[in-house]
Amino acid sequence: MLTPHQLDRAIGAVVASAAGDALGASYEFQPPLDPSVPVELRAGDDGLFERAEWTDDTSMAVPILQALARGGRLDDPAALAAIVGEWIGWARVPKGIGTQTRAVLSGIRHVTEGDARAAARAVHEQAGKSAGNGSLMRTGPVALAYLIDGVGAAAALAAAARRVSELTHFETDAGDACVIWSLAIRAAILTGHAELRAAVDTLPADRAAIWHARVDTAEAALPSQLADNNAWVVGALEAAWSAITHSETLTDALRLAVRAGNDTDTVGAITGSLAGAIYGASALPAEWVEPLHGWPGDEFRVFGAPELTELVQRAVSVPTA
Ligand SMILES: [Mg+2]
Repeated sequence: MLTPHQLDRAIGAVVASAAGDALGASYEFQPPLDPSVPVELRAGDDGLFERAEWTDDTSMAVPILQALARGGRLDDPAALAAIVGEWIGWARVPKGIGTQTRAVLSGIRHVTEGDARAAARAVHEQAGKSAGNGSLMRTGPVALAYLIDGVGAAAALAAAARRVSELTHFETDAGDACVIWSLAIRAAILTGHAELRAAVDTLPADRAAIWHARVDTAEAALPSQLADNNAWVVGALEAAWSAITHSETLTDALRLAVRAGNDTDTVGAITGSLAGAIYGASALPAEWVEPLHGWPGDEFRVFGAPELTELVQRAVSVPTA
């Protein structure tokens, strides 16, 4: 099974993502932040999210994590349908939800993988695009089911990441981004290094060339210099990778991600899933971890970092790949 350091990094992939989500929640839809502006956990000005409360990014990752903790397999249509069912239940009373995801979830007639994929395709065909960042933001837990050694596990992870993405996001860029990020999270949990370029190289050659150029873009600029379109999955991945490559600690990576501006909670969540897998949950300050909370908790039941941690521990102890 995992070493203590690997387990710390597996927990980091989920808890640091939730922390990045909560950190970014109160800075959303603003221009990039000047380096002199402090970035701290705080309540949003609109009163929607409390201090240290995560948003849809983490809430949509939780059903994936719960499925894995139950021993569900992401190549099993029944497990995928259960995840979709949880999302639909959450989406009846979300505090915030992406427009593309809302359209897809409201278009699902029967809670099956096939109906979700059909709804995702219909939304894509109506809009002419469907590469929002809403599947990348929730991909953190997917790698947890594929941490055993071997080329087969990486290939199975790539297939699962794309399949989970396609439940709501039809466009190839969204699936590619989830494959790249999930493979990098797996590598980081196992070795401490993200190996993002190697993840890109698993794509077909024409797609890999496109993504290598995007990684070049990310590495050449700060997140705040890439900020125009980080609600697009490509812009979000670039901003997150830029934050990771331009920082030397987990907290710096998350703050740099939030400084990107615009879709700050999602860029924070995406950054946190990989940066947490690199640095480990133990690199998060206690004052960021202890107050973390969000759905599926409510006024009667707190759901926070301990609950996320326990689900990760269960997910990595169930062999599913
Ligand atoms: Mg959000």
